[in-house]
Amino acid sequence: MMIKNGFSRYLVLAAAAAVFTGCGSLDGPLARTAEDAGQATASSTSPSAERSPSARPVPPGSQGASGAPSLPPAAPAGIPGAYHRWGLDRPLDKPPPAPAAKPLLAPVEPSGEGLPPVIRRVRTNDRVVFLTIDDGIEKDPRFVEQARDLGLPFTGFLTDNVIGDHYDYFDELQRLGNSMGNHTLTHPSLAGRDYDSQRQEICGQQENLRNHLGRQPRLFRPPYGAYDDTTLRAAADCGAQTVVLWRAEMEPGGLAYRSGGSLQPGDIVLAHFRGPEQLEGKSMTDMITELVRSIQEQGFTVARLEDYV
Ligand SMILES: [Zn+2]
Repeated sequence: MMIKNGFSRYLVLAAAAAVFTGCGSLDGPLARTAEDAGQATASSTSPSAERSPSARPVPPGSQGASGAPSLPPAAPAGIPGAYHRWGLDRPLDKPPPAPAAKPLLAPVEPSGEGLPPVIRRVRTNDRVVFLTIDDGIEKDPRFVEQARDLGLPFTGFLTDNVIGDHYDYFDELQRLGNSMGNHTLTHPSLAGRDYDSQRQEICGQQENLRNHLGRQPRLFRPPYGAYDDTTLRAAADCGAQTVVLWRAEMEPGGLAYRSGGSLQPGDIVLAHFRGPEQLEGKSMTDMITELVRSIQEQGFTVARLEDYV
């Protein structure tokens, strides 16, 4: 396998991918990534790098590169009392108002000139975490009801080849006030690929999302969290402003953390559009209920990522 750029970084990220099986329900690249990671000895991100300030991207409601608006106007509000229906003991706390000025980003490492920052968390002391939901394999109509009932904000990261002709489902979720970000056309492990193939994966999906959902995504997530400098360059050239990884992941057994044993303010949490086949028999709404309960038990609520990033 040829790795032309960012080999050491690829190993670090592949190691992370091995720990976090995020996006692992698709065949192929994960196996190779995990295998490579077994030989990696590099450590994870240095905390000091996360404190480096970074220039801020465009504010909410501003225009994407295509001129299409980048963010739905209002976060979902929820329906009073509906939490009972989903097996919760109480509603999600209303998050604090969106910050008037977005906080400085907390990049995992300094990005090169003109390259988008890569983040795993948001710099905030608010007791909020940010939910991201990936891929798009499951299109459970009950999840639309659940998200509406709970007023659950999230960011989708969508992959074209598992969505096919079903962008309408994600449009419905978008109309609740959620944004949909870019997660490539076919979900390959991008690190080590040449620029043209990476650009095709990212720009192709950017165009799909613009055509189907009417918005230019600002946020990009590389499959398996695996990227190199070529990925960042291609993402920038396709109009992505921030690359979003995660610090906690919802697995069938509960939340798993990249470090420590609990959620921290500003954590970005990864979940997936998955159903009983991928969730050991649980439905997507079961999984979301468990996740929300765990977030509540730890004293957090869920805010909308695009209000902070
Ligand atoms: Zn994925």
